[in-house]
Amino acid sequence: MIIDCHGHYTTEPAPLFEFRRRQVAAIDDPAKSPSPASLKISDDEIRESLEGAQLKFQRERGTNLTIFSPRASGMAHHIGNAETSLVWSRICNDLIHRVCNLYPKNFIGVCQLPQSPGVAPANCIGELERCVSELGFVGCNLNPDPSGGNWNSPPLTDRWWYPLYEKMVELDVPAMVHVSASCNPNFHTTGAHYINADTTAFMQFLTSDLFKDFPTLKFIIPHGGGAVPYHWGRYRGLAQDMKRPPLKELLLKNVYFDTCVYHLPGIELLTKVIPADNILFASEMVGAVKGIDPETGNYFDDTKRYIDAVSSLSAADKQKIFEGNARKVYSRLGAKLARL
Ligand SMILES: [Zn+2]
Repeated sequence: MIIDCHGHYTTEPAPLFEFRRRQVAAIDDPAKSPSPASLKISDDEIRESLEGAQLKFQRERGTNLTIFSPRASGMAHHIGNAETSLVWSRICNDLIHRVCNLYPKNFIGVCQLPQSPGVAPANCIGELERCVSELGFVGCNLNPDPSGGNWNSPPLTDRWWYPLYEKMVELDVPAMVHVSASCNPNFHTTGAHYINADTTAFMQFLTSDLFKDFPTLKFIIPHGGGAVPYHWGRYRGLAQDMKRPPLKELLLKNVYFDTCVYHLPGIELLTKVIPADNILFASEMVGAVKGIDPETGNYFDDTKRYIDAVSSLSAADKQKIFEGNARKVYSRLGAKLARL
């Protein structure tokens, strides 16, 4: 079985965008906010949105299951206030739930959290619990910078975040560290802000004792871990200079990387530097990079091809990357798959 741990609903039916447009337009006049019940999307609209995209690519590429969450750049936690974010998150998560019910063998849900700048992450506990306990989701996306590029929240290792981590541990769900849209023109959303955030989160983890406080807390750093694998020597050296334990001991029981690196040399480096036990297959399709690489004739985000092509990985390691590690990190996945 091939499990893609990183997919977003980026082909949403048009009424969702119209709802969001009306919601954002009413931020200064909440009386004009559209009611969630006014949003009408049919099952056929959902099917149409997926059949020619995510489902087609799953079939063509030979992957089986996508761990699926709302569009990451659409979370836009910096827009409005905590209530805006809660209404929007519930709608987006409910839509993912409908996708998972229509295609239970193809998609399993991960939720968006109703974060808001300056608001304690404890406010996300209710929605996380609803999504996991009631909707059957297996994880969440956690935005380390709900300001959208201004980085004015405490680091992920600050006690500010601890109540949410306590709930994640209790529910036994991991978080993918995933920023949303950038509203800082210095940082292109998918080309810079995403990769910066991945790298930033890793360095925050390196300098803290977060995993002493939460030995079973698990994070996936997406997009191949940002700059981390490429600069592994820098991070090992920094840890050493700071009298921290070796990275493998310090972080690799809790921190995982995905394979959203869109060329073979990048995947070769990732799999050479990071132990196979810490890598989860992912493509983020249909996502940031939609085109075909003229050098190979294949889609940039057809990441399965790169892993297939890495000759230094054993069959057992490939099995871990494609399936075993996802089952380990998303602990609730096994029970859900067994019921299919
Ligand atoms: Zn993503």
